[in-house]
Amino acid sequence: MAKIQAIKGFADLFADESRLFTFLEQSARTVFFRYGFTELRTPLMEYTDLFCRSIGTETDVVQKEMYTFNDSKGRSMSLRPEATAGVMRAYVENNVGAKESVSKFFTAGPMFRHERPQKGRMRQFHQINCECIGPKEPEADAEMISMLMYFLNYIGIKNITLQLNSLGCPNCRPAYREKLQNWLKSLDTSVLCEDCRRRMETNPLRVLDCKNPSCKEATKDAPLMLDHTCDECAGHFQTVKNCLDSQNIHYEINHRLVRGLDYYTRTAFEVVSDNIGAQGSIAGGGRYDGLVESIGGSSVPGIGFACGMERLALLLQAPEAPKADFYIAVLDDACREYGFKAAQMLRHGELCGTMGFESRSIKSAMRQADKSGAKYAVLIGSSELEQHNLMIKNMENGTQEAVPFDRAVSFIKEGK
Ligand SMILES: [Zn+2]
Ligand SMILES: [Zn+2]
Repeated sequence: MAKIQAIKGFADLFADESRLFTFLEQSARTVFFRYGFTELRTPLMEYTDLFCRSIGTETDVVQKEMYTFNDSKGRSMSLRPEATAGVMRAYVENNVGAKESVSKFFTAGPMFRHERPQKGRMRQFHQINCECIGPKEPEADAEMISMLMYFLNYIGIKNITLQLNSLGCPNCRPAYREKLQNWLKSLDTSVLCEDCRRRMETNPLRVLDCKNPSCKEATKDAPLMLDHTCDECAGHFQTVKNCLDSQNIHYEINHRLVRGLDYYTRTAFEVVSDNIGAQGSIAGGGRYDGLVESIGGSSVPGIGFACGMERLALLLQAPEAPKADFYIAVLDDACREYGFKAAQMLRHGELCGTMGFESRSIKSAMRQADKSGAKYAVLIGSSELEQHNLMIKNMENGTQEAVPFDRAVSFIKEGK
């Protein structure tokens, strides 16, 4: 029969990769808990409408990349393409804002997007996400960015650049948007790509983050948001920068760092790595003061970021695999039950190891023990069974000793 294969862009993560992902998640927990974050696990699937409203129907994500289907009652559902929408839905649905003025949520898990798979970009990919809902103060932005940089440093990511921009607010952005749009219309638009010619009408800010070289070149003298912010936005941005300066966190201003949607306000940031080429972004986020309202909650400010775990994994080595304490081999079928009891006793004594069920010759048993990488081989033959002993062999120095069953845990733990 033909073998069934995994879906393209969906990966199996065996021990090494899995250990790396666990390391990332545990490190995130350690660092984010220091900042008062709690973990929130939201469903992998939500009603499609949630993503339409929070991510926007005009975006590539919603138009082309979501795994969307109808359930048996004809309701449209989608696998989550990102985490923020679900977190906000949970926040609003559970009325969390009435119970606390600031909520800090951390989530980690798989997301799904039907993109062209490439290195570091899977269709089922994994993200670490943080959302801080409630504060409008610029120190909250600085804290979020500082925490992200702390985390990246903690896990050992090097050669990265923090990029910053401000996207203004509903008071200053509309005028800038119009100015940018008029400026774009004054260009010979034939140099712009097809997407940009469309974006020029619907979402002119997005023209600035087009990766197409001719679009970049054509817009190099475009008016900049930072030159058109209102006093409040300018002050907010200045405080964010001051806080980062005080922490010696370096950043570059990137005027092309824009977000396509109206609910994004003020601070936007991205961390890029010099070590993963063109798709260098490893984390990104920003302030989204209009988001909670856009999915039916009250007007609550917030800020968040997402960090791609596959991208981080490209830049890190998996931590070394922990060594097993023991490998139990039985030399005789009649010893199997006794071996089973011994294995259980050792594990209840907090030791790690495996039992080989098939009875073997001493030579073959030692080969198996060696292959397992365990520190001790435990050999059980008929004399061990009779005398209620275990023959324990130190795999490093080759010494071996018959140890009474009840003393085996302390023998292995203490090496004697
Ligand atoms: Zn403003
Ligand atoms: Zn373009």
